[in-house]
Amino acid sequence: MEEERLQKVMAEAGVASRRKSEKLITEGHVRVNGKVIKQLGTKVTAHDKIEVDGVPLQREKMVYFLLNKPRGVITSVSDDKKRKTVMDFFPDVVERIYPVGRLDYDTSGAVLMTNDGTLANGLTHPKFKFEKTYTAKVKGIVNSLDLKKLENGLVIDHKKTAKAKAHLISTDDEKKTSIVSLTIHEGRNHQVKNMFMAVGHPVQKLRRDSYSFLNIDGVQSGKWRALKVNEISRLK
Ligand code: URA
Repeated sequence: MEEERLQKVMAEAGVASRRKSEKLITEGHVRVNGKVIKQLGTKVTAHDKIEVDGVPLQREKMVYFLLNKPRGVITSVSDDKKRKTVMDFFPDVVERIYPVGRLDYDTSGAVLMTNDGTLANGLTHPKFKFEKTYTAKVKGIVNSLDLKKLENGLVIDHKKTAKAKAHLISTDDEKKTSIVSLTIHEGRNHQVKNMFMAVGHPVQKLRRDSYSFLNIDGVQSGKWRALKVNEISRLK
């Protein structure tokens, strides 16, 4: 039977990051088969009973999905206002999945869903700069200077945005709107909307086309697909 390090198993079960799980172990919060374990090298199998502060660890198989979120859906496991959430698209998935990162309520597109805490922590950590590509329909006719500003960085909330890639897809001279593709590496709150606002072109419609190499091409709105084994390893 496969043996794995205790902190890895804890992180994958979503207890905490691997680093924090190590701290929980050394501080004596963790029991394996009833015995407090403070040793970091400890390995466990699927048969071992793990408890953190007396609460048994739920160990499940790791699952990974790419959802094409429609507009008007909350990227969260629940919503106080009873609005539709990303979880509503997975009624038959028994594993306790959750979204990695967030898309705004009115943004559509690629959302990664998993129960793999280690992967989710890694992907959302600022150190790992996975690129995300968006298509934005914005107000006004975007010119080359606007594109350059988006690419070179803009000051938002007193902090300059990192280098990005932007290109104009089309303009509608009658309606005075533009369609722009923007690829960013950061994940600040409302970042794309704020970047376009900073160049004077408020976003009217926003879609995330891809999350790293995972593209929503072929995944209809409101549908999802399971990631392939090689895609999962590329993300890790
Ligand atoms: N940037 C935004 O402004 N909104 C999103 O949903 C994602 C990125």
